[in-house]
Order: sequence, then structure tokens, then C-alpha cells
Amino acid sequence: MKNCPHCSQILIFIEIGGRERLACENRHCDFVHWDNPKPVTATLIPLDGGLVLVERKFEPFVGDWCLPGGFIEAHESPEESARREVFEETGLEVEIKQLVGASAPGRGINVIILFYLATPVGGLLAPGDDASDARAFRQEALPPNICFDLHRKMVREFFGNPNMSLAAS
Ligand SMILES: [Zn+2]
Repeated sequence: MKNCPHCSQILIFIEIGGRERLACENRHCDFVHWDNPKPVTATLIPLDGGLVLVERKFEPFVGDWCLPGGFIEAHESPEESARREVFEETGLEVEIKQLVGASAPGRGINVIILFYLATPVGGLLAPGDDASDARAFRQEALPPNICFDLHRKMVREFFGNPNMSLAAS
């Protein structure tokens, strides 16, 4: 972002509220690029003694596996978004059971990930349009290439905590 979306003047760094922020150089325009994180969901779905993962079809990390999820749309609740993303990527209809984590990856990735635990209530596991594959993996058969540090951490926590599978049943 180089120019103000309101008046097209150049954006410059100004200290506002104790942080350097990109703001409009035009004194008659009050635009500030707050650069707040975007919320995304990632959902844990226990199935057949394993956990559902999707193989990524698009960048970044094409061919790696991750939890189903994605960006929350405008005016969508986080739970609605999680259900929609799961259905789009895996064909499964799920009921959201609980929020099991909320974290920021850091290192320049400006999102907040909301991790949900869900239980399948319908549909059939099959990759949707934006996934190459969708499968349930048992702990001993997990793929080595699970992308996103926080997803890997959550998958480990899931298999390390039998209460999570119980909570979803
Ligand atoms: Zn402006």
C-alpha cells in the first residue's frame, strides 16, 4: 500500500499511539492504515480414529497438508466460517464443539488463527475445489509435510490429548 485509498496522496510512516503506522501525508485526510490482523479459522475434525487434513492445491505450500480452514468472510461469524470452509474443502458437514485455541503466527504473517474442534454430522470426506486431497490420518500415519507451525503444534496437541477426541464425540 503506497497511496491513500481516500485521496491518492502518498502514505508515510507517522507515530500514532506509540507505533509507527502508514498514514496519509495530506493534512486534510485522516486515513491511517491500521494493518490489523485478519482472522482465519482452522478446524480439528476427529474421524475414523484419526484427524482430517487437506492437501493444499494453491500457494503457499502447494502439496503440503494442513487443517481445513481459511479467511472469515465479511459479516460471517467465526463458527459459520469454520463450518463453511470445512464443507468447501472436505465435503464434511460439521458441528462446531468448542474453540480450542487462538494464536498469532508472528513473523510477518498478519493473521489471528481461531482453532475449533468439530464433529462430523453429515457429508462424505472428499477434496473440494481448493484442496487436492482430504483424508483422515491416524497419528502413526501423519504426513511429514504438515505446513504452518501453529497447525503442526495443534495436530500434536490433538493427538497428545485424548480429551479432544472425546469432546468431539
Ligand atoms: Zn488521504
